[in-house]
Amino acid sequence: MIDPFGRTISYLRVSVTDRCDFRCVYCMAEEMEFLPKSELLTLEELDRVCSAFIRHGVRKLRLTGGEPLVRRDIMTLFRALGRHIKTGALDELTLTTNGSQLAKYAVELRDCGVRRVNVSLDSLDPAKFTEITRRGRLDQVLEGLAAAKAAGLAVKINTVALRGVNEDELDDLVAWAGGEGFDLVIIEVMPMGDIGGENRLDQYLPLSLVRARLQRRWTLDDTDYRTGGPARYATAAAGRYGGRAPCTSESRNQRNRGCRSR
Ligand code: SF4
Repeated sequence: MIDPFGRTISYLRVSVTDRCDFRCVYCMAEEMEFLPKSELLTLEELDRVCSAFIRHGVRKLRLTGGEPLVRRDIMTLFRALGRHIKTGALDELTLTTNGSQLAKYAVELRDCGVRRVNVSLDSLDPAKFTEITRRGRLDQVLEGLAAAKAAGLAVKINTVALRGVNEDELDDLVAWAGGEGFDLVIIEVMPMGDIGGENRLDQYLPLSLVRARLQRRWTLDDTDYRTGGPARYATAAAGRYGGRAPCTSESRNQRNRGCRSR
């Protein structure tokens, strides 16, 4: 599959729901109006669409949301898509998740052919975590991460850098992720239009500043390691750290919200 600019398209990200069990302050309003279910593709339709893309050359498929694991019977879709891993038509089936349901699903995901997960996590402070997500529990996510690790899934942590919220924790997050054997990608907050609450621009923390601060503690060596997304990686003594700015097109499209739209 070739786009109008001559680029080969081999990586597809599919949002399977706009719903989420969290309400991160930079992503959603507290009271959300979600799409009517009748406007969503059914799981069977999603399978047909994804399979059509795979027939046309997609080799890597990521399911996102909202939170993909809160969609009812979502494992039916993972199981169906797993058949493309078995036949070798698909190289990678993966997902981006807030981790709240991972303890329940990690083993089943692995059995469906998933080998890597991106997990969104902005703070290791339980109170701050709940403040950012409005309704999330850090212990539940850490339990999910432990389950993913035990199931043999490689984990990449996505952290949104937020001025005045978690900027003092980024150093510790790099150390923690390295200790756990997780990659860590720090993402600039993106403006999402009117989603209530604080002004996103007040929380904006440029990646250049994040990197300069990290360099006070870590020696960062740029690498050409890539995971298919737009992040650029460096290694720190603690592990692998990456940074990425949000895509402009995603910032413009509020319907395309989701776990770091990743
Ligand atoms: S950022 Fe992710 S976890 Fe947070 S509300 Fe949005 S979709 Fe849910």
